[in-house]
Amino acid sequence: MTDDVAKVLLGERVILSRLDELALQITEDYRGKELTVIAILNGSFIFLADLLRRIPLPVQVESLSIASYDGVKSTGSVEFRQARLADVRGRHVLLLDDILDSGLTVHAVRERLADGSGALSLRSCVLLRKSVPQIRQIDPDYVGFDIPDEFVVGYGLDYNERYRNLPYIGVLTDEAIRRYAR
Ligand code: 5GP
Ligand code: MG
Repeated sequence: MTDDVAKVLLGERVILSRLDELALQITEDYRGKELTVIAILNGSFIFLADLLRRIPLPVQVESLSIASYDGVKSTGSVEFRQARLADVRGRHVLLLDDILDSGLTVHAVRERLADGSGALSLRSCVLLRKSVPQIRQIDPDYVGFDIPDEFVVGYGLDYNERYRNLPYIGVLTDEAIRRYAR
């Protein structure tokens, strides 16, 4: 599996020490508040687990399953795989996503939550932000790393459902991209 990685962009230690900083900031911002974290799966599952274990606050955890990518590119539409959102009345909501690319995913979730969900506040946190022009302008409240416009895998992020379990974030070889294309 590691033979398929052309370049490691962010090593495990680098990621985890950045999570220490993010978690500290989030902990200060939400102290004494009713916090609900909504993770956008599948991509954010490792980020969710590592970040939440660094936040020593009472927190409700929910998830949303969303698909907007096929292979190495965005499909341009955001598919919600469940009909109902969590009940967030009276709660402060923090949306968690693996990577901000076109902005379509976070925008779609924010829209759904904005309509009468009763949330007291709504912020977003992304592990990665790509430096590309966004289709929907999203300004996340918490950003782990700004990265160049490359297709990345690992630490939860997949290429056609592979590589989510790499402990770091990297770029695939062209050979691997071709081999697992569908
Ligand atoms: P957006 O809706 O902002 O275009 O894209 C967000 C979603 O697209 C992410 O949650 C992620 O699932 C997928 N995505 C965007 N860029 C990448 C990438 O470089 N690698 C992988 N594996 N997924 C990506
Ligand atoms: Mg994905």
